[in-house]
Amino acid sequence: MSAPDSSPLFGNVALIGIGLIGSSMAHAMRRANLAGHIAGYARRPETRAVAEKIGFADSLHGDLAECVKNADLVVLATPVGSFAEIASELGPHLKRGAIITDVGSVKMAVVRDVGPFVPEGVHFIPGHPIAGTEQSGPDSGFAELFDGRWCILTPPPGTDVDAVAKLKTYWEKLGSNVEVMEPKHHDLVLAIVSHLPHLIAYNIVGTAADLETVTQSEVIKFSASGFRDFTRIAASDPTMWRDIFLNNRDAVLEMLGRFNEDLAALQRAIRWGDGDALFNLFTRTRAIRRSIVEAGQDTAAPNFGRSGKEKN
Ligand code: NAP
Repeated sequence: MSAPDSSPLFGNVALIGIGLIGSSMAHAMRRANLAGHIAGYARRPETRAVAEKIGFADSLHGDLAECVKNADLVVLATPVGSFAEIASELGPHLKRGAIITDVGSVKMAVVRDVGPFVPEGVHFIPGHPIAGTEQSGPDSGFAELFDGRWCILTPPPGTDVDAVAKLKTYWEKLGSNVEVMEPKHHDLVLAIVSHLPHLIAYNIVGTAADLETVTQSEVIKFSASGFRDFTRIAASDPTMWRDIFLNNRDAVLEMLGRFNEDLAALQRAIRWGDGDALFNLFTRTRAIRRSIVEAGQDTAAPNFGRSGKEKN
C-alpha cells in the first residue's frame, strides 16, 4: 500500500497583505500543511518586522515582483481600493498556470480592477471569506479564523474547472465551507448582511458622539444597554470600510433605500402607538437570530458569551 500523499497543496503561496486576513491564512496554511513556502508582502517595514517576529511567513518582501515570482497561488489581502495598482504592478510577474485570488469584501469591483491585468495562462478566481474581527494588522491573525465560516468564490465564466476545484479544496482545508456565486449577487447579499450593518453602526456611534444633551461620559458609562455592541462593529478598520462603500455603491444604496422605507414604517408605528406592528416585527427578528445560532454562525450563550457579571 502506498503512503498517503503528504506534499502541500501549493508549492509557493504569495500573500499580498499580511494583516488580519493574510496572517490568519498563513497560520491556517501552516496548520494544514497547505504551502511549501509562504511569501508575505507589506509596504511598510514596520508591518514586515511584526510579521517576522511572529514567524508565520517563510520570506517577507517589500517588493511585489519579488514576492510573486515563483508563486503557484497569489492572494490579494490588502484594502480593496489598492487592488488595481497592485495588480498592474504584479501582473507581468505571474507564473503561467498560477492561480490569483483575493479576499476582498466586494467582488464586482475586483473583477473590474484586477481582471485586465491577469495575463493569459493565469487563473483569476476572486474570493471572499465571510470571517473577520474588528482587529487589524499582522499580530491580529489566528489559525481558527475561517473554521466553520463560509467562503464565496466568484469565478468568471469559462474559468478552468480544475483551478476552481483546487481553490475550493484550499479553502476547505483552511476550515471553511465554500459557495460559488455571481459577483453581482455576492455584492447584493453582502450589502445587507455586512455593509449596511457596518454603516448603521458607524452612524449610530457617530450620532451618539455628537449629542449635546447626553454627555460622552454617560454614553460610555451606560453603553452595556445596547450601544456597546454597535461600537465593536464601528471600531473596524477605517481604510478597509471606506474602500468597501466606495466600491459597492450601487448595492449599498439599493439596500439603504429599503432600510429607510422600513425605518419610516417603524417611526410611524411608534408615533401612532401601533404596538402590534412593533411586536410582530420583533418576533420575526428573534426567529432570525435563532436560525443563525442553529446554523452554527454564532453562540447561543447569553450576552454573546461575555462574562456573567456583565449586565445587558
Ligand atoms: P489589515 O489587517 O488592515 O491588513 C491590511 C494589509 O494590507 C497589511 O499588510 C497592510 O500593510 C497592507 N496594506 C494596507 N494598505 C495598503 C495599500 N494601499 N497598498 C498595499 N498594501 C496595503 O486588513 P484585513 O482586515 O486583513 O483586510 C484585508 C482585506 O480582506 C480587505 O480587502 C478586506 O476587504 C478583506 N476582508 C476583511 C475582513 C475583516 O473582517 N477584516 C473580512 C473579510 C475580508 P502595510 O500597510 O504595511 O502595507
